[in-house]
Amino acid sequence: GGFIPPIKSNGGNVGNVTSRIGGKCDDALEDSTKRCLDMLCGPDGELPEKLRNLEPRLIEHISNEIMDRDPNVRWDDIAGLEHAKKCVTEMVIWPLLRPDIFKGCRSPGKGLLLFGPPGTGKTMIGKAIAGEAKATFFYISASSLTSKWIGEGEKLVRALFGVACCRQPAVIFVDEIDSLLSQRKSEGEHESSRRLKTQFLIEMEGFDCGSEQILLIGATNRPQELDEAARRRLTKRLYIPLPSTEARAWIIRNLLEKDGLFKLSKEEIDTICNMTEGYSGSDMKNLVKDASMGPLREALKQGIEITKLKKEDMRPVILQDFKDALQEVRPSVSLNELGTYDEWNKQFGSLA
Ligand code: ADP
Repeated sequence: GGFIPPIKSNGGNVGNVTSRIGGKCDDALEDSTKRCLDMLCGPDGELPEKLRNLEPRLIEHISNEIMDRDPNVRWDDIAGLEHAKKCVTEMVIWPLLRPDIFKGCRSPGKGLLLFGPPGTGKTMIGKAIAGEAKATFFYISASSLTSKWIGEGEKLVRALFGVACCRQPAVIFVDEIDSLLSQRKSEGEHESSRRLKTQFLIEMEGFDCGSEQILLIGATNRPQELDEAARRRLTKRLYIPLPSTEARAWIIRNLLEKDGLFKLSKEEIDTICNMTEGYSGSDMKNLVKDASMGPLREALKQGIEITKLKKEDMRPVILQDFKDALQEVRPSVSLNELGTYDEWNKQFGSLA
């Protein structure tokens, strides 16, 4: 770098990490990278064994982009899915909180698969698990490993599991896991993606038998693409379906109440819920967003300027706003896709 600080920094405690990265001289490392390595050092000031042979910039990427210290989703933010919440609490949260009890016969599987249509709360559940279990949350999209990290995916995977190991208890959430552990042997399957898959399975194997407090959650909209090896490692498989009528009502109420915009009657909510059969949680959120624009659009149509508009001049969100929004926001999941999930659930799902 060309910039030389006017006061020579003695580095404070970001100084001497030379010994910690496999004897390689780290004078060339950015301060941000050094700080990041420092935070991962043990009480002895040494970098844990697992991280010593990893590239510092990958460790930094994991710490800054993949690791989320405060996922900030609570169980109560998630509509419906009572069954999934109950299963998850017993299967993975308790074991993370009380490893001393959950060993031997009670030792849990370390892999959980959440499958179902997109936008139904799988990522939210992953974050809530981390929150409830006071675990560090790591989020990675498997497709980014193959697209964005071409040729480096393997190294990034090693760094991911390495850092998670130092941040236990940890939850590693792998979105679109089908793209990593697919059974399809596409003709063009590159050597590199095969190696990536192998590396990933090796890492999973590594903590599966150990006493590590790490949970791997895979999420997918295409469970049928997973191969046998993937299914074997993701021992618990929970179907996360579209929201029920009650869950949809809850999402509408919850989002509008947060903004103080809720004025709908029970009957009106029922009407909206009947018109939104097949909408996902994420579709519902988009619907509420669009409907909540109704009062604003109407005020502006009456010629009030946006800069002069007073909040108290706007009417609450009404049923007609939702009817209008329903023309704009269509469900994103098709009926025949749902059949596929049901079938897969019957065959491979836990507690179907
Ligand atoms: P997935 O991981 O299943 O594709 P997400 O968990 O990312 O879906 O959900 C996307 C967004 O949709 C969430 O941020 C939330 O606003 C909304 N949403 C989806 N499912 C639910 C749910 N069950 N309860 C409340 N909000 C939901």
